Parts: sequence; structure tokens; C-alpha cells
Amino acid sequence: MTTPPLTLYLAAPRGFCAGVDRAIKIVEMALEKWGAPVYVRHEIVHNKFVVDGLRDKGAVFVEELDECPPDRPVIFSAHGVPKAVPAEAAEREMVYVDATCPLVSKVHIEAARHHENGLQMVMIGHAGHPETVGTMGQLPEGEVLLVETPEDVAHLDVRDPEKLAFVTQTTLSLDDTAEIVAALKARFPAIVGPHKEDICYATTNRQEAVKAMAPDCDALLVVGAPNSSNSKRLVEVGARAGCRYAQLVQRAADIDWRALEGIRSIGLTAGASAPDVLIEEVIDAFRARYDVTVETVTTAEENVEFKVPRVLREPA
Ligand code: SF4
Repeated sequence: MTTPPLTLYLAAPRGFCAGVDRAIKIVEMALEKWGAPVYVRHEIVHNKFVVDGLRDKGAVFVEELDECPPDRPVIFSAHGVPKAVPAEAAEREMVYVDATCPLVSKVHIEAARHHENGLQMVMIGHAGHPETVGTMGQLPEGEVLLVETPEDVAHLDVRDPEKLAFVTQTTLSLDDTAEIVAALKARFPAIVGPHKEDICYATTNRQEAVKAMAPDCDALLVVGAPNSSNSKRLVEVGARAGCRYAQLVQRAADIDWRALEGIRSIGLTAGASAPDVLIEEVIDAFRARYDVTVETVTTAEENVEFKVPRVLREPA
């Protein structure tokens, strides 16, 4: 039986970013150093496959610190945590390791600096996402105002329009964020912000790659988790860039083959927390049904690497 031809456009860059890679290595190092169980507050990165793999090695995932026994080490996820979390761990004399991505920590530092300079903070982010919760939690309660849409800007009730600054979640849509920033600047011309927004290199590059290939694809699949902000944004970016079918899949088993009937081309990318093995699995699933020609669409080269501590130390 002959299989139909299919061009598979593979986005580059795609998949793991430096912050995710570092966070996973930190959990593996902790397991090596202290043995199982090692506790991890929140999914270390938003990917079930990664979390299940670490769980098999002895990591225990919890949502709150009070679920961890005081005599076992605990790791804070790549998304960052409110200041109160390490403070509580220290108070309970727990051993903890912070796997917050350095690019998220950078935003925390920015927010604290603006606050020290007497500016009220506005955060552009998604309510309830752990990164937003972590960044807002760098300052005393009520000090950070959250906006999710340009419409929210109109309802902001600020202390002094001349003393305002903004930060953003690192995994937002570039285009949506630009609209919100424009609305903020229009209403509060004195507002201070980062040079660009705080959206990280990995989010930016993955979105740009999707934008470049989406118009040529009959369909687009994004390998990623339903709770992964940057993965969901890739689906939206693909749809907005002209791809009539853009879908998030966790792995090959999630592909809706009936929805793909008749396609001649498919775009494939992966969010920053999706491992290569799942992308390979999806490619193999296409090879089983189509005569696949893979074309890589490269829009940026990435060589970012974050230092993983050589030895995990107990906090003083
Ligand atoms: S997506 Fe960006 S901010 Fe988040 S872990 Fe990766 S590099 Fe860090």
C-alpha cells in the first residue's frame, strides 16, 4: 500500500530551553546527593512525561511546602516562588534548592528594584500561573497590580500615574503583550518598563519560528502540556499566522488523525518544557501513515546555557 506524501515542517528552535534543562538537572543532582525521596514544590517544569520520569527516580511532587516533611530536601520549580516560600522553608530549617529559571529571577529583581525606588508595579501575566504568583509574591501583598488584557488597563486603579513600572511573565504571546504595553503607555505615559518586555529568548524564538512556517502548513501541532503557558501561546500564534488547524498534543497518542485527513503539509514544534523524545514520537507516528519529507524551518540559533551548580549546597 502506498502512503500519501507529506511535508513535515519542523520548527527550529523548538522544545527544551536552558531554564528547563537546568531545573531538571537540579532535581537529578538532588536525588543523587540526598537520595530519594526529594520533594519538588509544583511540577518542576510543565510536562507530565518529565515529571513522571523524575517521580520514577524518587521525586515527590507537591503543591505546597507544608506537604513536605521538614527532614527531606525540597526543590522550587523553574517558574519561581513567592518570597514567603523560601522564608518558610528557612524557618522550618529545611534544606531547599531553588531551580527558578535565571530569566524569571531577573524579573523578580527588576520588580524589587522598582518597588525600592517607590514605583508601584503592574504585572502583565496570567492570573494563577505559578510564575505570575511567584513574581507578584516578591513584593508585599497588594503592591503588584495584574493585567491580562488591554481592556484591564482601563480599569487599573493606581496610586500615582507618575510612579509606575511594569514587568511581564516570560512566556506570553509577543503580539498580545505588545498591545497591552501600548495600552499601558497610552494611559500612563510615565510608566517605566524593561528595555523590551520580559518575554524570554526561548518563548520569542519558538513563536517566531511558528510565525515563519504557519502560512505554509495545512495544520500545526505543538507538542506540550495543557498547563504550559508558552506551548499554548504557540498554538495561538500558529492560528493567528494563518494556519487553519493548530492543536496542542501531549504526545503522539493525542493526535486527531481524522482532523488531519487530506493534509499535504504539517508544521511541528514543541513548547519549552517538551522533551525531544516526544517530538520524535510524533514524527514516527507521521512516518507510519505518510511518506514524510522533513524540512527544518530555522529562524534562530540558540546557544544559551545556564550554569547548573556543581554541588548542591544546603542554604546557610
Ligand atoms: S521558557 Fe524562558 S523563562 Fe521559562 S524556563 Fe525557559 S528560558 Fe526560562
